Amino acid sequence: MKRYGRELPLPKNDPEDLKKELARLEKIELDSGGEEFIGLPGRWLDPPGPKYRCPNEHVSKTILKSEKYGGALCLACHEFLFLTFPEDEDGPL
Ligand SMILES: [Zn+2]
Repeated sequence: MKRYGRELPLPKNDPEDLKKELARLEKIELDSGGEEFIGLPGRWLDPPGPKYRCPNEHVSKTILKSEKYGGALCLACHEFLFLTFPEDEDGPL
C-alpha cells in the first residue's frame, strides 16, 4: 500500500489478539447492562457512529481501510483497529 509515495509499515499486531481485546471490551459493556445488536454492543453503533481503538492507545472515528492487510488500520500508527466504547479517548484503558 502506497500513500504519498511511501510504503506503509506492516501492522505488527496479530488480528487474533485484537479480537480477544474486543471480546474483553464487549464483555465489560454487556456485563454492565449493555444490549447486543448484530453481535456487538448496540450502543457502540449508535450515532454519531462507531469509535475505534488501536493497540497503541489511539482512539478515533476515522479509519484507514486496507484491502491489502484485510481490515481497518489506525491513521496514526497503521495498526489494526477494534471497536470500542463511545466514551473512549486516546490513552490507556
Ligand atoms: Zn494507532
